[in-house]
Amino acid sequence: MSVRVRYAPSPTGLQHIGGVRSALFNYFFARANRGAFVLRIEDTDQGRYSDEALQDLYDTFAWLGVRWDEGPDCGGPFAPYVQSARSAIYREHAMRLLAEGKAYECFCSEARLDRIRRIQTANKMAPGYDRHCRSLSAAEIAESRAEGIKPVIRFKVPLEGGTTMHDVLLGDIERKNEDINPDPVLLKSDGFPTYHLANVVDDHLMEISHILRAQEWVPSAPLHVLLYESFGWTPPIYCHLPMVMGSDGQKLSKRHGSTSVREFRDAGYLPEAVINYVSLLGWSYDDTREFFSTSDLERLFTLDRLNKAPAVFDYKKLDWFNGHYIRMKSDEELAELVVPVLKRDGVLAENPQASELALVREAMPLIKERMRVLNDASGLLRFLFAEPAEYPAEELVPKKLDAKGARAALGEAAGLLEGLASRSEEEAERLFRGKADEMGVKLGDLLMPVRVAVTGSRVSPPLFGSIRLLGIEKTRSRIERAMSLLSK
Ligand code: GLU
Ligand code: ZN
Repeated sequence: MSVRVRYAPSPTGLQHIGGVRSALFNYFFARANRGAFVLRIEDTDQGRYSDEALQDLYDTFAWLGVRWDEGPDCGGPFAPYVQSARSAIYREHAMRLLAEGKAYECFCSEARLDRIRRIQTANKMAPGYDRHCRSLSAAEIAESRAEGIKPVIRFKVPLEGGTTMHDVLLGDIERKNEDINPDPVLLKSDGFPTYHLANVVDDHLMEISHILRAQEWVPSAPLHVLLYESFGWTPPIYCHLPMVMGSDGQKLSKRHGSTSVREFRDAGYLPEAVINYVSLLGWSYDDTREFFSTSDLERLFTLDRLNKAPAVFDYKKLDWFNGHYIRMKSDEELAELVVPVLKRDGVLAENPQASELALVREAMPLIKERMRVLNDASGLLRFLFAEPAEYPAEELVPKKLDAKGARAALGEAAGLLEGLASRSEEEAERLFRGKADEMGVKLGDLLMPVRVAVTGSRVSPPLFGSIRLLGIEKTRSRIERAMSLLSK
């Protein structure tokens, strides 16, 4: 059997980790099996549809470097791939079930449905339609029609028996038909299909072989199996993916932190890191290997390495992957990624000079080890392009020293600046260590005031390298400024 899988998002919000994980697994599964990966836009809920969400979908996958073989933007043999452009197809299929007695028209008013709902709640009954119109007489139907009431079309869920959904990961899930949503709407009165009808019809017509999607869709799957049977079709192979949780065991949500890929992208995560980490949410290759590139996953992904247990989204672990992929970049590559961040944060102007860009590149070895996300570059490198912002004099004073001691440390450091540019890291350190010993202070206490004077902060890239990049002249004047701040 040829593998055809799909990602079928409803564009109602930003692409989140769970959705992207589904998309990636489908994509990798298609690639690993030389199959096709289809993008289908499920926009039948026009009230919740948003253009911005659709744009975010395209942006997110372009950024991740993931391409579908068939979809709204590239076409394919089963076009159109947008459900709102397929209304006639759903209507035709609903009519077919109607004609075969497997569906029926329901003329109930909103007011009546509301009333049923209220009674059910008051009596602690399961909510659901009471099947009132399932057995209307021809005369009753004609009467409602004559009144101009537009019906919805409801599916006749069998009253007896049971339905089984086979899931390659979860095993068989059995439901008594009496526990299935009583007669869900297939076609709304405005002619639009519901999710159930459109999803089933499209998966069949688009010859989808496997459905890999989030576990939240398990409850509606038995109903879908019934729909396939009513049409005389074989359902695709189901594989519901493990849930993604926060560290507290609750479904991952905004409470835990960022959940949309856009937020991670804006925060300076690399697509390689996001792909690598997200792929390990509920999947593993073996019990040890952690690093996977997109092309590794395109070869190695298999359903039998999926995990049934929920996956926990660990923000720290993603940071760890991101740091890894940052360090894998060459200085040139990293500088190219960092420059837009520096511009956005106002560290660089919109059109930086060539010398400034060269400085950014030279600074890469200095900050590569310290960056968790690309955005860290702004804080780490700002001192190279602007005088440090005002800071209180106490910032300059290490715990073990007083203002006088800090001032003395700065004075001694200024005396060592000459020739520092040509010294290696080790030589510079030896020089300062010697001076610290001579003064009877710790090396750290000698360097801390200098670090604050030069960078404006107690956390900075390695100090000697920073001084070298900034230049001796600017360093000297910043040290002098700090000394005068201390003497006030
Ligand atoms: N449109 C549904 C969603 O938003 C598709 C669910 C499925 O994959 O069947 O996720
Ligand atoms: Zn009704």
